[in-house]
Amino acid sequence: MISKERVFAAVRWREVDCIPVFANKSPMGPALIGKKLNRDFFLSAESMTKSELALFEAVDDDVICLNLAPAIQDVLGARLLWPENDHPQFEAPTVFSIDDVRALEGRLELNRVLKNDFIQALLETTRFVKTQIGESVVLEVNSYGVFNFAARLMGIEGLMSATIRDKDLVRRICDVIADLQVALAEPFVEAGATLLSIGDGMSSPSCISPKIYGELALPYLSKTIQGFKRTGALTLYHPCGGEYPIIDQVGSTGADILYFSELVDLDVAQKIFVRRFAVAGGVDPANTLYMGDVHTVDQRLKETIGKLKHKTGVIIQPGCGLSPNIPIENLQEMVRATRRYSADMRR
Ligand SMILES: [Zn+2]
Repeated sequence: MISKERVFAAVRWREVDCIPVFANKSPMGPALIGKKLNRDFFLSAESMTKSELALFEAVDDDVICLNLAPAIQDVLGARLLWPENDHPQFEAPTVFSIDDVRALEGRLELNRVLKNDFIQALLETTRFVKTQIGESVVLEVNSYGVFNFAARLMGIEGLMSATIRDKDLVRRICDVIADLQVALAEPFVEAGATLLSIGDGMSSPSCISPKIYGELALPYLSKTIQGFKRTGALTLYHPCGGEYPIIDQVGSTGADILYFSELVDLDVAQKIFVRRFAVAGGVDPANTLYMGDVHTVDQRLKETIGKLKHKTGVIIQPGCGLSPNIPIENLQEMVRATRRYSADMRR
């Protein structure tokens, strides 16, 4: 099977030759081509393309993933700190009231957004990568969900207190963010994206209650995913953090792939969503990939795959985004071990 066929078959619960792997390898790319993960990197289509293609050759997993979150934060006017070699961090809030959201909305007309330097660089990267890989590999464009972006605009404290004291402000800002994400989906799919994904730790049970999640986050996460689906792309949603208390709600986003942190057992998730959704996850980023060696990775994958009831409907993936200092050998072993232990599964 070619890689893209394997992923599509797994998502549709059809027969696969082995379980697909998404390695979350992007943060290791800049070092591989002698660059740093910084502002300049996200503004250079040439660096991002080189980095992703070099990584794909080195790790050989089943997806190439481009990161849209920094570009959207820039479009939203978030105040960011750029570390020397890491993803941008929140610096200070820029949105305090509904008036601020209204002013923001006025600046988000699509033609204007498409002229943003970060957006242009990533659209160009999508086209370059697509030209190189053709139809052989899934090309993912990954971003945050509405609460993660809202936290970048209001600050975590501002957002968390607004979920109790100013629910209209939260609804309004999430709605504007979801509309922006949906508007950007079409240009990225036209440029070559085949999978659109969001991760939203700020609305996970590690930050808000399942009740507030259902009331304030889920409607807008669903709006984003449903908008993505209208482009015809596959969709993935990562609830990111202690997801069992909301596991009865996440399916209503309609995302094709529900991608869980390592706090959810992949075999349990697969049983819950059997033949309805594909599930992804199963690898602990800290204990297995960062602290472990190739032997640890091999053993953990053997255990995780051994517990799965079905060979399809599942993707092996680290439980969250990775830091740039994870040894690349561990990612390579995760891919090899997944293929080794899943190829002979009968079920
Ligand atoms: Zn996560």
